[in-house]
Amino acid sequence: MKRIGVLTSGGDAPGMNAAVRAVVRKAIYHEMEVFGVYQGYHGLITGKIKQLDRGSVGDIIHRGGTMLRSARCLEFKTIEGQKQGIAQLEKYGIEGLVVIGGDGSYMGAKALTEHGFPCIGVPGTIDNDIPGTEFTIGFDTALNTVIDAIDKIRDTASSHERTFIVEVMGRHAGDIALWSGLAGGAETILIPEAPYDMNEIASKLKRSQERGKKHSIIVVAEGVMTGSKFGAIIEELTGFDTRVSVLGHMQRGGTPSAADRVLASRLGAYAVELLLQGKGGRAVGIEQNKIVDYDIIEALAKPHKVDQRMYELSQELSI
Ligand code: ADP
Repeated sequence: MKRIGVLTSGGDAPGMNAAVRAVVRKAIYHEMEVFGVYQGYHGLITGKIKQLDRGSVGDIIHRGGTMLRSARCLEFKTIEGQKQGIAQLEKYGIEGLVVIGGDGSYMGAKALTEHGFPCIGVPGTIDNDIPGTEFTIGFDTALNTVIDAIDKIRDTASSHERTFIVEVMGRHAGDIALWSGLAGGAETILIPEAPYDMNEIASKLKRSQERGKKHSIIVVAEGVMTGSKFGAIIEELTGFDTRVSVLGHMQRGGTPSAADRVLASRLGAYAVELLLQGKGGRAVGIEQNKIVDYDIIEALAKPHKVDQRMYELSQELSI
């Protein structure tokens, strides 16, 4: 392969820029030409495509967001949309494509692969919900953002002796809530993957108060219920003074952490190595600190699982 493309798609994540930089630099190092596709699959269909040189990815490794920008594109879910995308790639003589994004973006890469166009998926999402990789690019930075917020909330919670509900992102995957709750010392963590009992949560809060604990922090993944709904139920069951903090989109932004930059660099470069070998239809990931690749179609068939042992640990440590 002599000419490849790269795009970022779906929800943006800190570290996507570091991944784009790695793809571009690694490809140029191996004397390939690289084209950036702007605005995800929307730009692919409409031909927002431009050649990138080593300088065009300078000064971005430390920036959040994505210089290639991102978009949602319903049209790409149709076969006509996908064929238009392939026609654009062929027009530019592009022979392989690196797609940096979440599980929705992987579906697009899978569709292109099924049409016979070589694509490599790179996991870029704060949700950590891509099958076949222990970590996704952006997850570590988002966790640090949430922990920073929890630490600050803890200060005010203890001053005012309040119960705080912190709503974090995660519609289907509880990884952000679980990891940040564990690292932030939350009393209770609610994730979409685990059952919960509101009466039991309320009793636990009351038992803690009887022991002399004056404040509590509860982390709720948005996929369980909204923080305000949860807070209202807790107030009704306990009578405690409760406040709700919804962290929202701030979790997607910010300077990528060192861990995310390193992961993005390793995964982005490996995606190019696969294309150099003429491989397509693969997704890259990290397992036990080794960079791995696997069939993108098979991977998507397996659901992401939250780490059950970690969930048990969070319960053991928050007694
Ligand atoms: P993320 O990649 O962060 O999960 P989305 O779920 O919004 O974000 O997906 C990003 C884009 O991927 C969508 O806007 C669409 O263009 C494309 N996509 C999603 N699902 C499919 C699908 N089933 N087939 C083809 N393309 C898809």
